[in-house]
Amino acid sequence: MEVLVINCGSSSLKFQLINSDNEKVLAKGLCERIGISGSAITYESVNCEKNTKEIDMPTHNEAITAVISALTAENTGVIKDMSEVGAVGHRVVHGGEYFSKSALVTEDVLEKIEKCNNLAPLHNPANIIGIKACMKIMKDTPNVVVFDTAFHQTMPEEAYLYALPREYYDDYKIRRYGFHGTSHSFVSKRAAAICGKPYNELKTIVCHLGNGASICAVDGGKSVDTSMGLTPLAGVIMGTRSGDIDPGILEVIANHTGKNISEITEILNKKSGVAGLSGVSSDFRDIEKAISEGNENAKSAFDAYVHTVVKFIGAYVAVMNGVDVIAFTAGVGENNGHVRKDVCSHLKYLGIEIDDEANSKRGEEVMISTKESKVKVYVIPTNEELAIARETVEVLA
Ligand code: ADP
Repeated sequence: MEVLVINCGSSSLKFQLINSDNEKVLAKGLCERIGISGSAITYESVNCEKNTKEIDMPTHNEAITAVISALTAENTGVIKDMSEVGAVGHRVVHGGEYFSKSALVTEDVLEKIEKCNNLAPLHNPANIIGIKACMKIMKDTPNVVVFDTAFHQTMPEEAYLYALPREYYDDYKIRRYGFHGTSHSFVSKRAAAICGKPYNELKTIVCHLGNGASICAVDGGKSVDTSMGLTPLAGVIMGTRSGDIDPGILEVIANHTGKNISEITEILNKKSGVAGLSGVSSDFRDIEKAISEGNENAKSAFDAYVHTVVKFIGAYVAVMNGVDVIAFTAGVGENNGHVRKDVCSHLKYLGIEIDDEANSKRGEEVMISTKESKVKVYVIPTNEELAIARETVEVLA
């Protein structure tokens, strides 16, 4: 069956058409600047190279229509008409406490996603717009929602409660939710398959290190703790996000600068992290270049980043009372051998030994620990779209 995977942002829509039988990507692309002037669709398929076309897309409805036209176009398309698409799988950021797994979209499901809007005000409303656009334009095609938070719903209370007045949890559902669940689930399952051990017997730490980054302790196939929190701002240092900071800092910044909470939160999200600390960039390629040119702020940003990753790994070894596998994934985790090497050099106490030649590889599935290493360390490229397509098929089965 062909599954259309959709990841909808407030002004963008990423899509992939995946054949769920052979898991091949038939076509993929991105609609950008929806609702803004200069909107365009970028598209590539097994029948054509990547190309960009300007199309007027005042709303997500026109974006979905543009995706359908691209997928069904005479020479460059990959299907005759949309009846060939068996289902649409939507990435949804926040499922709150309502969803511990993926779900078929119904009125009730949509209502619950809407109830989570206040937990992810930038993302959930956009996800809902995408779902509604598909329901309107592809009336007979089932829609499935796959949540970033669902995998972490197995966390025990002691891992998800914040030590705030109890009513904040009871009344407002303020707690740790965690994100990147689709990736943590995909990578931890793959890790079990590669090392040939039953998933439900393995202790795995997944380091999803992209622009956004989170670390997850997966014990016996269940997320038992993760570094992101109520929002994706918490945890390790990220490209532009601060990760964990002393909450008292907010008032101190406010007193110094006169900025309000929203303005400071914006700074914590967009101007902090490796970018803020280095003053160079959020991109690790730029950071490494600056380090090689002797930029000390870039070096200290790199070191602080590694330090936070090391701290979370150490914490999760303690939480799980051991670890069998550590897996690196996402942009930095898949491509940056220096980050991996520096992180692992702090983990010798676990009996971890890194094979430098294997670690010099980029973007491919590889074991980077030596045969003798007591803990296996892998690089496992994540594939959230494929994971969403698999979930979609499973929900419909
Ligand atoms: P996002 O969270 O936006 O999906 P990514 O997973 O693409 O982010 O990660 C972005 C980071 O990955 C950047 O810091 C970038 O330096 C790094 N990265 C991505 N591709 C490469 C590459 N080929 N070589 C080195 N670093 C890379």
